[in-house]
Amino acid sequence: MNNQFSDVSTPWLTPIFEHLVATYQTGRFAHGLLLTGSTGIGIFKQAQKIAQYLLCSNKQADGPCYHCHSCNLFLAHNHLDFHFLENEVNKTIGIEQVRSLIAILNERPNLGDNKVVIIKNAQLLTVPAANALLKTLEEPQGNSYIILLARTHHQLMPTMLSRVQHTHLHTPEDSVLLAWLADLGFVVEDKGLLRLYQNSPLALLNHLKNVQQGSEQDERKNCVEGLFTLLYMPETLFTFSHFLAESVEKRLQLLFHLLHDLHKLKLSDDAIDNDAIYTFALPQLKIWQSQVTLKSLRYLCSELLHTRTLLIDHSGLKKELLINALLIKIKNEFKENTTC
Ligand SMILES: [Zn+2]
Repeated sequence: MNNQFSDVSTPWLTPIFEHLVATYQTGRFAHGLLLTGSTGIGIFKQAQKIAQYLLCSNKQADGPCYHCHSCNLFLAHNHLDFHFLENEVNKTIGIEQVRSLIAILNERPNLGDNKVVIIKNAQLLTVPAANALLKTLEEPQGNSYIILLARTHHQLMPTMLSRVQHTHLHTPEDSVLLAWLADLGFVVEDKGLLRLYQNSPLALLNHLKNVQQGSEQDERKNCVEGLFTLLYMPETLFTFSHFLAESVEKRLQLLFHLLHDLHKLKLSDDAIDNDAIYTFALPQLKIWQSQVTLKSLRYLCSELLHTRTLLIDHSGLKKELLINALLIKIKNEFKENTTC
């Protein structure tokens, strides 16, 4: 996703980048850097920009020059002093990978003064691999810099954390995000969509582009429709069940959000404005929240998560049977035209 948006601006990351540049210019930049942040915030893009800056031979006050030989090689993905390490799909990062990386770092830089490594998914370093890296972080060879990327710092060993400079990338506020999306041609009025993507800009942009191109749809709408038909035309249960079974992890999560929004709405009318994911369906949600008790909603949320976990962990189970049973429980807890 990151490469796809390499030419998209990321204004929410600018203050952090400027801060890191200032740190470098005053000689306080650490050789081990940890960047954390949620998926779709632009963490890899930020790490690449820092790497380009560290390698640039004509550093400017606000970042890399974009014109020197080093910058050109970097932008062409052809810089010999830049290295990238990540796990293979469903695998950890092992000691052999780290050893060969350290061997490279021990050589002199090919071009300028610095060498830079980005390690993506640093939480997947095995304990021996992380231990091998510790020594390099402690006594870096020459001017080598290691940039570790992870979702949160809790995923890394304390011994590693104590040897790196940690920077967390925060998601932008609604106003910043909405203005950025509008600049890119996407006027979003539904704040529920922001909540669904936890304000992660690139994840949101990816979704909006896919919806525009017709390769993806806003499946929250399918969930509202699905619940509606389940409650008022229960004979269509199988259609909704089939829809959910096609993508259990994602779609049951969306259905969970719907029940959870109803729960929030029952507790307070205000909560729905800021936290809800289904803001676009508020009138319908208001009707439904009067047809179900808080106790029922808690029970259903817990049953739903239980079913979801079962189906994710055991791929051999009959998906639609379990989902049908869940949907029948939901149908039974809602009482038509009854005020609870
Ligand atoms: Zn440059």
